Amino acid sequence: MGLLVQKFGGTSLATDDARRHVLRHIVREREAGYSVVVVVSAMGRMGDPYATDTLLALAGGGHVPARERDLIASCGEVISAVVLCGLLWAEGVPSVVLTGAQAGIRTDGRFGSARITRIETEPVQRRLKEGAVVIVTGFQGLSPDGDTTTLGRGGSDTTAAALGAALRAERIDIYTDVDGILTADPRVVAEARPLKAVTYAEICNLARQGAKVVHPRAVEVAAQAGIPLRIRSTFSDDEGTLVTGPGMLESGEVPDRPIVGIAHTAGVTQLTVSYGSADPGDMQVKVFGTMARHGISVDFINVTPSGCVYTVFDADADRAIRLLGELGCAWSAIRNCAKVSVVGGGMNGVPGIMAAIVEALTDEGIPILQSADSNASIWVLVRQADMADAVRALHAKFGLGRTAEAARAASQPVQEESLWISED
Ligand code: ADP
Ligand code: MG
Repeated sequence: MGLLVQKFGGTSLATDDARRHVLRHIVREREAGYSVVVVVSAMGRMGDPYATDTLLALAGGGHVPARERDLIASCGEVISAVVLCGLLWAEGVPSVVLTGAQAGIRTDGRFGSARITRIETEPVQRRLKEGAVVIVTGFQGLSPDGDTTTLGRGGSDTTAAALGAALRAERIDIYTDVDGILTADPRVVAEARPLKAVTYAEICNLARQGAKVVHPRAVEVAAQAGIPLRIRSTFSDDEGTLVTGPGMLESGEVPDRPIVGIAHTAGVTQLTVSYGSADPGDMQVKVFGTMARHGISVDFINVTPSGCVYTVFDADADRAIRLLGELGCAWSAIRNCAKVSVVGGGMNGVPGIMAAIVEALTDEGIPILQSADSNASIWVLVRQADMADAVRALHAKFGLGRTAEAARAASQPVQEESLWISED
């Protein structure tokens, strides 16, 4: 029988009750005959005693070097892994804990945001052959110099996907605190609806635009290996969302939908720069070169002959502004903005989506500060204070909610157009 990778996130491991559910999912698959590799995150969220952010805060701010920061950041997963191991043994299920390094996960040397480069599968395979559930600490690996590295936010998802790919798993199951991937963050949109089946591309886009339910890198890794990914809740038996390639879906399973969901990212600052009488070519090279050299990631870039507009994370805004001052640029800044994205693999070439977006936001009186698009998303920049209203307005406009879905099912057949743009 096959092998499954199961990944459990922070809230899934935070309490006794939650860990009982985790145990139930592991035992169920094992009894179904699967070999099981379990990837765990640290328990809970900031403020919880063993959460990664709590450990980092304990170590203090700026004085701990990056190498040592990664060492303490990797401890939370060790704690949850050992606790889970004990619970499994208490149920008579043999289990063994491997740290990222012990599990053969090799990364590059970038502390805090390392990338997995290779996995030596022998240590995991040996334990699986011995009949154990292998628990691997997520979010970490070993650098070429033999140091512990961490993979950045959401990194345990990537650990699970990379292990699944290396071990040729039948499926990678990401267990979390919601019923799968929804049409928007349920914390913002109460009517958000779980998606049954989606493609890697759709979810990769949604995740990149801020839907933090699964890390985009994990989706990429699973897609490259062609291994199905399931996102589901630890707290129910609902099977959640199945993510596969378009060719792997049973025919008719996925509707040809232009829009799959709405995502948001808060905490960005819009910078508007004017070059004055300086040479535009020179200035744009200087501005973006300077940002790059200082490790400031830029987004939402519009370049014109007289200047440029772009966004940076709020946390980088002061530094970015200081650097612009040093270059002699005139600048203005709008802090506390949010990027709201309408995402869908099938929107390319479909007319009327931008029209629907501006209509929805104008009706709510929400100013659009900037917009941009790719073949699979359209983003607008709004003030953070307007973010939740913007997400809800767009979710309703594109008919993504539960009610719209129910209404749609009840009124078959429907016009192609009314599937995604509600006509008022
Ligand atoms: P875990 O600790 O299990 O990795 P995360 O907090 O990383 O959990 O991700 C789950 C959270 O992602 C949910 O609680 C939900 O608020 C948020 N989320 C954002 N966008 C979406 C979406 N489109 N679908 C589902 N959840 C989403
Ligand atoms: Mg997560």
